[in-house]
Amino acid sequence: MKGLLYYGKEQLRYSEEIEEPQLKNPNDVKVKIAYCGICGTDLHEYLDGPIFFPAPNCKSEISGKELPLCPGHEFSGVVDSVGSGVTRVKPGDRVVVEATSHCSDRERYKEDLVNKDMSFCAACKVEKPNCCKRLSFVGLGTDHGAFGQYVVYGEDHMLKIPDNLPLDLAALVEPLAVAWHAVNCANFSPGQTAVVLGGGPIGLCTILALKGHQAGRIVCSEPAAIRRELAEKLGAETFNPMDYDDPILNLKNMLPETEGFTASFDCSGIQKTFDTSIDVLGPGGTAVNVAIWPNVPIQFVPMCLTYQEKRSTGSMCYVTKDFQEVIDAIGKGLIDQESMKLLITGKVEAKDAIEGGFMQLINHKETNVKIMIAPNGLDM
Ligand SMILES: [Zn+2]
Ligand SMILES: [Zn+2]
Repeated sequence: MKGLLYYGKEQLRYSEEIEEPQLKNPNDVKVKIAYCGICGTDLHEYLDGPIFFPAPNCKSEISGKELPLCPGHEFSGVVDSVGSGVTRVKPGDRVVVEATSHCSDRERYKEDLVNKDMSFCAACKVEKPNCCKRLSFVGLGTDHGAFGQYVVYGEDHMLKIPDNLPLDLAALVEPLAVAWHAVNCANFSPGQTAVVLGGGPIGLCTILALKGHQAGRIVCSEPAAIRRELAEKLGAETFNPMDYDDPILNLKNMLPETEGFTASFDCSGIQKTFDTSIDVLGPGGTAVNVAIWPNVPIQFVPMCLTYQEKRSTGSMCYVTKDFQEVIDAIGKGLIDQESMKLLITGKVEAKDAIEGGFMQLINHKETNVKIMIAPNGLDM
């Protein structure tokens, strides 16, 4: 099949001779890919990897596979064929795929694994597969992802989408599920207030996830004008922290009655946004870290939580339930498709995706949100 293969840092190549994945287990589903978004994680793998991908000449702990593999984990497609035990989807169904791999997925690859101990890690035992110590993804090391024409993965990861959801927009369900999970981590209820720190792709998805949760007020704090403009179009109030000497005080003053927000979402990951995420909360509020930080310490004063019983927590990826809730919120119009369209800033075929996708995102960060790769052509 045709697609992009990842070999390691700065080594991504288009090929027309990739071995097409085949059904192997009774619960396997083969999906013909329509669209797959390029994620910040894909860019990190390209620029500084392998991070999630296995190191060269090493095998994935989940699947026993090694590089090269196709990246791509934010995707939609049409079911091509199914294994003998599949009951939930059939050929022709339009689907999105929850892309995580954890302890339970090792069973599919058992014959290729050196370590055949199939026992679950502690996180998987308590049904937090998103926190699995072996966490990986289709398209980030487990198996070929959706920058190739076909993906084969287990039935339990497939979710049908409604007829009125176009396949390009459906490929946004994955990044929206990341944001949806973060909002759930704040135990967020309708009518509550939230501040989103950073208006990049994750921040913008968080605005839509908050709309899906029927937030009372959503404020997006972002220094770049072009991103603030987009955040406003999605329905957030915007705030430029560079306009104020004391941005935290000015943000808090937006909600004088509650003396701050119910929840905050750090989608930037710097000392300033971490401090802000806690200080802008009203009493009992929750700060959720959504950003990926470099592995270096920052300053933290524990009493900034204690005095007002605030909470600071982190959100890791997503679970299948988040995918279903995002699909339902789109179905109900709580996340509207017109807003989703604004997040897609480009579409390219796989053969053009290194220049027209990866390089475009690396060199023109501010004018792009999501670029979609269409491995089976733009008219599928
Ligand atoms: Zn992603
Ligand atoms: Zn596990």
